[in-house]
Amino acid sequence: MIVGIDAGGTLIKVAYTENGTLHFDKYPIAEIQQVASWVNDLSDSDICITGGKSGVLLSLLDKKALEMVEFEATHLGVQFLLEKMGRDDDSYLLTNVGTGTSIHCVENNQQERIGGTGIGGGTLVGLSRLLTGVMDYEEMVALARKGSRDRIDLKVKHIYEGKTPPISGELTASNFGNKIFEVAHELSKEELLAAVIGLVGETVSTVSVHAAKQCNNSTIIYIGSSFFHNPLLKEVVESYTVLRGAVPLFLENGEYSGAVGAMSVL
Ligand code: ATP
Ligand code: MG
Repeated sequence: MIVGIDAGGTLIKVAYTENGTLHFDKYPIAEIQQVASWVNDLSDSDICITGGKSGVLLSLLDKKALEMVEFEATHLGVQFLLEKMGRDDDSYLLTNVGTGTSIHCVENNQQERIGGTGIGGGTLVGLSRLLTGVMDYEEMVALARKGSRDRIDLKVKHIYEGKTPPISGELTASNFGNKIFEVAHELSKEELLAAVIGLVGETVSTVSVHAAKQCNNSTIIYIGSSFFHNPLLKEVVESYTVLRGAVPLFLENGEYSGAVGAMSVL
């Protein structure tokens, strides 16, 4: 069996081929020992590990495994997944919304990390829990879908009252900047969760659009488990990216890019 593992800050992503079929699995980082035991029990296997926790996982293995730099693995995996989608892009901006957000410029098949932001999936989970007490990721994203950000976020058109604004009035002037303290006691979990996703999505896409200009490319590929079962984040990122003049693309199984890339070098 050929196994690629991306052990990230929050989730361990596993890609493996068995009888010619590609499989994907993911586990919380707290289950790293169980993942190590699964690998240790494989009889005939080639393994390559990447991600920030690759050293921890390696230390739990009783067999040899290759290790590779996460950014290289992610880029290779993205190329593989693009081909699976029937695309042949070799130049684009790549934004990986993991626990944190990492931004890469890919030009003629070479990747360079050009920046990032600490606003990412970890912010989504952390702020959501702090504001609403909801601890389960699936519950967070399901509730957020039903929420409106209208009472929490301040739009440009709210500031330019009775006047035509010089930029789109629909842009957010200030996330969480509306008169929230007047309604704080009434705000529902759904509204708060939607606003947190709005904050994360708009920050990630705004930073990405600026980075895409620096990279001379208008295609932005978004990956990372933060988009998993999270249509609201996709919607915010997609519409904000388009509004700001770039072209967003969400990769199928994009959260497995690192794991697939690690597997592909074996
Ligand atoms: P990094 O690359 O920054 O080291 P990572 O590789 O662990 O972190 P991802 O797996 O791409 O990051 O994304 C983690 C994010 O995905 C979480 O912060 C959360 O927003 C979201 N997520 C999706 N599914 C889950 C889940 N089952 N449990 C917790 N978070 C989840
Ligand atoms: Mg990661």
